[in-house]
Amino acid sequence: MSERERGALVLIVEDEAPMRRFIRAALTARGHRVLEAARITEALTVITSHHPDLVLLDLGLPDGDGIELTRQVREWSQVPIIVLSARGREDDKVTALDAGADDYLTKPFGIDELLARIRVSLRHAQRGEGGAAPQRLELGELRLELARREVFRGEEELHLTPIEYKLLVLLATNAGKVLTHRQILNEIWGPGHAHQTHYVRVHMLELRKKIEREPARPKLLVTEPGVGYRLRDRG
Ligand code: CA
Repeated sequence: MSERERGALVLIVEDEAPMRRFIRAALTARGHRVLEAARITEALTVITSHHPDLVLLDLGLPDGDGIELTRQVREWSQVPIIVLSARGREDDKVTALDAGADDYLTKPFGIDELLARIRVSLRHAQRGEGGAAPQRLELGELRLELARREVFRGEEELHLTPIEYKLLVLLATNAGKVLTHRQILNEIWGPGHAHQTHYVRVHMLELRKKIEREPARPKLLVTEPGVGYRLRDRG
């Protein structure tokens, strides 16, 4: 675990004080430092002046919408943003993710879930800061040999189609993070196919049959209902 995964500077943007207190307590107990903002204007000021390592962002704020804040921040910053959203607001989550948020948590969420999402986002942010592309990715019993374009589950080599392989590499390089249908379509099929979500469903189904021991009860490649897919990161 890196230095920053233990002690990050986290900005909580949330107008409900009890929720801010709950998150602050959880994060400071784990060695993170916490900044707070209750409004969008305040959040923008804090982000520009304090450069937090990560932002936890409620979508419904008194002076506007967290999605709009995400768009603004993404014009000049790649700081990881995890959206805090109410159950049943899948459209908001998708819009926020497509606007550049890194992940989301559905309220009410548990502390372990919160900490796990933060860890994954910080790790991806650090990887994004440079370094050579990896030759190999390992996720549980799956092993991707990227230079040779080979995939193994344990000792067994899996035979994937070119699209399944590209999908798996995309998911594995984003392990632990949710990817929306639009993001997947964009990466694999290109920007002209943003609405063809059935492509994604069909190929994910096939991929799942090959990588999961029990495809009907996936342990690795999980569906995020109404949002997209996530390859679980058990690391
Ligand atoms: Ca709110």
